Amino acid sequence: MFQPPRCPYVRCRAHRNPSRRFYRSKGFYRPKCRPHPIPRFTCKHCERSFSRQTFRADYRDHYPHLNARLFELLCSGVGLRQSARLLGLSTEGLQLKFRKIARHLWRVHQNLTGSFPDGVEFQFDEMETFEGRRNTRPLTLPILIESHSMFIVSAECASIRPSGRMSKERRKAIEEEEKRFGPRKDRSRHAIGRVLAVAARHCGLAQRIRLRTDEKKAYPPLARAIFGAERLVHRQFSSKLPRDTTNPLFRINLTNAMARDLNGRLRRRSWLVTKLARYLNAQLAFFITYRNYVRRRFNDDEETPAEMLGFVDRPMRKEQLLSWRQSWGRQSIHPLCRRRLKTVTEIQDRSMAIA
Ligand SMILES: [Zn+2]
Repeated sequence: MFQPPRCPYVRCRAHRNPSRRFYRSKGFYRPKCRPHPIPRFTCKHCERSFSRQTFRADYRDHYPHLNARLFELLCSGVGLRQSARLLGLSTEGLQLKFRKIARHLWRVHQNLTGSFPDGVEFQFDEMETFEGRRNTRPLTLPILIESHSMFIVSAECASIRPSGRMSKERRKAIEEEEKRFGPRKDRSRHAIGRVLAVAARHCGLAQRIRLRTDEKKAYPPLARAIFGAERLVHRQFSSKLPRDTTNPLFRINLTNAMARDLNGRLRRRSWLVTKLARYLNAQLAFFITYRNYVRRRFNDDEETPAEMLGFVDRPMRKEQLLSWRQSWGRQSIHPLCRRRLKTVTEIQDRSMAIA
């Protein structure tokens, strides 16, 4: 029997400090898309009502039973239109689902990422892709992983200025776009900074942080500023080294290759195109949560990257990943709850205490 852990309305007293019986039962309702009745409640403090559904990630969804299937398709390299065809949804309907699930998955990742240990090693690199038009609107995609587990800490794309080989046609196309939209902005420093800052936020207790990157000149000052020069050991390696398993950046290179494979829109010579950078960021939520919480690190491993770091205690099924709403930060219900509902904080603090 479901017992609401708190009042879902953030301004209510029973949201932060719920007493044991802060609510009254208010019967049930029968949604069209579910076989079982859903219990309803009223909060004794604010007198507002809510239901079990208010706490679910698929609250207010049309066709919620298709969410897990959509997750599976979108982390297997299938594009949005093809997913819509396979699931029998309209492209517009599917796009709304895609964005809502992406927002949820970013929150899952944010809430479940715990602290990295002292001496942690990160690897960092940037990939290049584009939005809308290949030769005029390039994007950079910085990705940061924890080396041992291959846990993807953060990734976020940003616009960069077109560079590289310039044919006459390309130069003309760029000029035309600049006339229409103004010069394309280079936001790569901003995006790199944001990606590194996510890692730094989770390194509170680490006295020593190791970082491996290629030899791009912009990295050392940025990394020192974000992680703190006194605790950072930054090593840079030439990108001309053979790209095999002996390469010191092998794990980030492998992560990039997986990103290209599992996100159709990042494939080279693909018909799938990112129309706007923010939809690539939405797609990344699927890739990151799949890699970190669902998929084992390598095929012959038992554990997922998140398990290896002690952030969760078992692999997550896609249904669990899409289960409880994560809008309340670490006070949200943990996606791996069994019978008794516990918050992310409660479960992570307990596992930290055991460790
Ligand atoms: Zn309330």
